Formats: sequence, structure tokens, C-alpha cells
Amino acid sequence: MVTNQSQRHQLDLLVETVGDAKEEPPLPNEGLPRQWLPGWIRWPLKILALPWILLDYHVQCLASKFFRTPYVQVGGCKQRGNCCHYIMMEKGWGIFGWLFTAWHTQVIGFYKRMPDTQEYEGKKIYVMGCRHLRKDGKCGQYRFRPLVCRKWPIIEHFGHPRLLKGCGFRAVERKKN
Ligand code: SF4
Repeated sequence: MVTNQSQRHQLDLLVETVGDAKEEPPLPNEGLPRQWLPGWIRWPLKILALPWILLDYHVQCLASKFFRTPYVQVGGCKQRGNCCHYIMMEKGWGIFGWLFTAWHTQVIGFYKRMPDTQEYEGKKIYVMGCRHLRKDGKCGQYRFRPLVCRKWPIIEHFGHPRLLKGCGFRAVERKKN
């Protein structure tokens, strides 16, 4: 069993190295977990959710015009797929936590790389992979991708943005008017 300290070290290491990784990480030991929600339920749910995802995305884009971040994003996606290999998703609690995880694993298509939660920056997180990442680094559900993928890489209002090494995007300081 690994301790929280060494788990944190492993995750810090992972965040540091994943950007440089040339190889796809291995699947979980038991292989790619099967989704118990059938496709004929999954796809209508994705279609129904799309207008809300787009609305949320555009409202956030609009809000960012008024609440400006100190850095702006420049560059473009190189379609390396590295950011899709390890997605850190905070564990929710109770029925909403269960629904949140079920939505991301059953509908969106993420899967847990490790069965247990990990400790990262004081939060309990699941480290997820995505079954829709294609071998050529492209997204297999680009039009239906979730909000987290549309907003990545996230430029926060505080601190220096952290982008994966080798990412085609860069964060540059916003020019003062
Ligand atoms: S949905 Fe697409 S963009 Fe998002 S993690 Fe999966 S492959 Fe990457």
C-alpha cells in the first residue's frame, strides 16, 4: 500500500512527466472497464447535454471578457493527446458524487486509471483516462466533448498557469492598456 505522501509524490511526478510522454500509458490491469450504460441511452444523453455544455462554455467565455485573467492563451492544440491521458477529477460525495462520477464514466467515457482516489493539493481525486482518445491523438467525440475538454488548458485568475510540457498552447502575460 502506498502512503498519502508517496501518492502525492507520484502524482507530482506524473504531472511533471506526462507532458513529455511519447508513449501511451498502459490501460488498467483489468483492461478497459466496460460501460454498464448501453449506447442507446448514452448517446441520447450526450445529445441532450450538448446545448447546456455549449451554453455553459459561451457564458464562461463572455464572463472572461469582463473578469480578465492576468495571462492569455496563445498557440493551438498539437493533437498529441497527452492532456487526455490523465484527467484529474475531484471526488464528489453522496448521491451527487455518485451521479457526477457515473456521468463522466458512463456517458462521457472516462475511466478510472486507478481504482482508489488519490490525494492531490488537499483534495481527493480520481485519475481518469478517456476511451475516446484515438491513436492519432484526436478526439473520437470531438463535437460532444465535455466542458472540461473545451476549456483546457485552464488559465486561472491567480498564480502562474500550469500547462503540460510540450503543449501547443502557451500562456503569455496580458498586455496592459
Ligand atoms: S473527450 Fe476527447 S478531448 Fe476529452 S479527454 Fe476524451 S479524447 Fe480528450
